[in-house]
Amino acid sequence: MAHFVIIGAGECGARAAFALREKGFDGKITLVGSEMHPPYERPPLSKAGLLGAIDPKFVAAQEAYAASNIRLLTGLTATGLDAAAHTVALSDGSRLSYDRLLLATGASARSFPNAPSDSSHIRSLRTHHDAATLRAMLQPGKRLAVIGGGFIGLEVAATARRLGTDVVLIEGLERVLKRGVPEDIAHLIAERHRAEGVDLRCGVSIEALSEQDGKAVIRLSSDETIEADLALVGIGARPNVELAEAAGLAIDNGIAVDDRLLSSAPDIFAAGDCCSFPLDIYDGRRVRLESWRNAQDQGTLAAANMLGADEAVSAVPWFWSDQYDMVLQIAGLADGAITHLRRDLGEGAFILFHLDAEGRLLAASGIGPGNTVARDIRLAEMLIAARAHPDPAALTASNIKLKTLLAA
Ligand SMILES: Cc1cc2nc3c(=O)[nH]c(=O)nc-3n(C[C@H](O)[C@H](O)[C@H](O)COP(=O)(O)OP(=O)(O)OC[C@H]3O[C@@H](n4cnc5c(N)ncnc54)[C@H](O)[C@@H]3O)c2cc1C
Repeated sequence: MAHFVIIGAGECGARAAFALREKGFDGKITLVGSEMHPPYERPPLSKAGLLGAIDPKFVAAQEAYAASNIRLLTGLTATGLDAAAHTVALSDGSRLSYDRLLLATGASARSFPNAPSDSSHIRSLRTHHDAATLRAMLQPGKRLAVIGGGFIGLEVAATARRLGTDVVLIEGLERVLKRGVPEDIAHLIAERHRAEGVDLRCGVSIEALSEQDGKAVIRLSSDETIEADLALVGIGARPNVELAEAAGLAIDNGIAVDDRLLSSAPDIFAAGDCCSFPLDIYDGRRVRLESWRNAQDQGTLAAANMLGADEAVSAVPWFWSDQYDMVLQIAGLADGAITHLRRDLGEGAFILFHLDAEGRLLAASGIGPGNTVARDIRLAEMLIAARAHPDPAALTASNIKLKTLLAA
């Protein structure tokens, strides 16, 4: 009987395991994950999940694995991969033989250079365990220092303010969300954080981060010192490639796969946060995405291709972030855009359309309360997938429905 093994029991690995069954695979499936929990959703860890009692939101009920005949091994790490022999060594000393393997090992939070790695006052946020530790100190009278004005840092800052915690956020660049978010939207987000009481400092560099007398101590290059009960380091993530790299697989900002998610080794696929892949809609540009929907889509696609479907990646990148009552959504990749057109949607919501020199729509970024931008971002995503060159005047005219542009 064929045996398909999936390393990494996160969003992507779990989706792939269920998709294999949904697509009719009747062989053995083993899903191996380092964490003690069955696969759970990470996005709530910085948002609603951090407000409450913080039970994990599981990708699927525990019984669903048995019902789908998926062998789920938690608390076990794959420590070695022999691509020629088609075997994986696990941390308990056992070894699995596979016919096809999926690496869905995700990413890890980057740590701050030269900061203590085992401090209870200097933390990052990637796992449920991290979130539980963070949640315990988010109280009135406590002070949180967020290092890095990226999505996770900003979302935690918003959640911390809702819980009455003092927040100082330190960003080295001149503005928050410098990577991938247009200035107008980043500005609006920064202003909202300031209005909510976050002490937001941009263009500030940190000399040293240490722990002293039960506090996190941040020494700035201006010589000012900031003390906090906890410093949350939110300076990005790095793909978990160690297993693949040691096995000799090609690495290029992640495990390098082709547009079928096949790695440089036969029968080994990779998907989700851990891999980089060529994206046809952007002329084959190699990208690595850290996004929930990408992890889901690629898990499903990898399953299909492990079964021989030979389907290429075609999804348009999509990402969202919640901060206070604001929802930000981005479809596509805006780099390379030279025109930024604005469509106002009411209630303070707006979308920016990013076009290249030939007028092709590359990306759309929207922000507004609740669901205000969701429908138009969805339509923009379809226009991007169609490689459309929409009429700029129609994009900005909020009385013209985007749907009509799609028909055109
Ligand atoms: C706090 C937070 C908030 C987020 N918010 C959003 C959001 O608002 N919107 C959005 O689009 N995305 C968001 N994301 C990103 C999204 O959650 C990720 O893109 C998604 O979880 C990636 O799924 P994955 O399965 O590829 O990797 P992961 O979720 O990282 O899962 C990989 C799993 O593999 C395990 N593993 C690694 N190596 C091994 C090994 N050798 N052996 C066994 N197991 C191994 C890891 O322990 C991990 O459990 C957020 C992420 C975080 C951390």
